[in-house]
Amino acid sequence: MRDNIIPWRQLCPVEDQSVSMEMGPIYIGEGLIAQCGEACLKAGLRGSALVGMDQNTALAAGNAVVASLQSAGIDAQPHMVGPQDGSRFVSTTDYSHEIVKSLEQPPDFFVSVGAGSVTDIIKYAAYMMKRPFVSVVSAASVDAYTSSIAAMVDGGVKKSLPVNPPALVITDMDVVNASPLELTTSGYGDTLAKCTSCADWVMARELTGESYSEEVSKATFSYAKQLIPLADKIKRHDKDAMDLLMRGQHALGIAMWLAKSSRPASGGEHLISHSWDMKALKAGVLPSFHGHQVAVGTLQMARLYEQLEKLRCWDGGTEPVDVAVRRIKDDQARHTAFLGSDPATVGKVHENEAELSAFRDKVKSAWPTLSEEIHHYLVPSDELEEAFRTVGCPTNAAGVGEDLDDAKATFLRARFLRSRFTVLDLFDALTPLTEVVDEVVR
Ligand SMILES: [Zn+2]
Repeated sequence: MRDNIIPWRQLCPVEDQSVSMEMGPIYIGEGLIAQCGEACLKAGLRGSALVGMDQNTALAAGNAVVASLQSAGIDAQPHMVGPQDGSRFVSTTDYSHEIVKSLEQPPDFFVSVGAGSVTDIIKYAAYMMKRPFVSVVSAASVDAYTSSIAAMVDGGVKKSLPVNPPALVITDMDVVNASPLELTTSGYGDTLAKCTSCADWVMARELTGESYSEEVSKATFSYAKQLIPLADKIKRHDKDAMDLLMRGQHALGIAMWLAKSSRPASGGEHLISHSWDMKALKAGVLPSFHGHQVAVGTLQMARLYEQLEKLRCWDGGTEPVDVAVRRIKDDQARHTAFLGSDPATVGKVHENEAELSAFRDKVKSAWPTLSEEIHHYLVPSDELEEAFRTVGCPTNAAGVGEDLDDAKATFLRARFLRSRFTVLDLFDALTPLTEVVDEVVR
């Protein structure tokens, strides 16, 4: 079993030996569920445990996890979350608060058996009760098992909430490989998104001075690069390819701790996904799978970078400066009012003509070198689309249940959702996004 512990530095290589991380051991291997109890004892976790699961993950692994903990002498109590009919659900902090309220005595530690929703609910409950958290993985759909945030709906708004690093992560590949294909393809979409999120990150470093780590960025991107030609194998749940996808998800969670932000995982493509999530939330319907939305967003961002080069927008911009300053301010007022977002955003609007001119000059002079750096990460949109099609990921708005005109409106306003600087902001400061929306959004 010791052989199944993969050091975090092996998953997300960083040379700097002074970098430390409080994360517990990460196990990846086959037949590990039966050894959960033993792994907990080895990690110093004993006493009582609340084991959170939903109807599906209970059958896939949860019941076996409880049995393994109990046979190791741990007082493990199952706790069901989500709908009783086993249908999909969105993680809200209400679930975490319910757990906290229901406990007369907090358990010594929490265990989650599930994918994104269950993991987020349980790890946030553990954070609130200041107890260690063990993550038992049920699918390769998300990076939530090791990540530094819980992405949950809180008070009707989707938020990134803080959590503690896991005390132990158990990844039984027998369970992961038996999970529904749509969860795998969602994880595949989210992993390939690093092609555009890492491009956005390096661009933000150069143009807005945001802190950046080349090591972290290249480590997370390397999984996307390796997985692009493996779409067919992922679709068949090939063992080696799935192992790589799973390692990529864990690496991404680690990268977020190292970067102290979700930046390595999330660029313009995630703003599109978050906008669709908010729309679904307002309408009271379930959004599409996160990684499927992100895959469609990634194609949009990859095409947008291509348009930037094709139209040579970087070379001084194509919209007159005075027109652009006014237009962007109007857009910001309109879109933030629609989104209900905070208008105080970094690098999104330019106070006056001199400021925008200076920004455009900066882009022009930085571009030859910056373009080279960006192209380390960018993959041609056709190639990405082919990979998504092969694996069975949606490649257009209709594939994630969005009307094309609505998807175009979302593309135009998404940049004002959060302060994160992305290619959407860069492009719009040079040439109005409306000029390429028909080309980019499909
Ligand atoms: Zn994501």
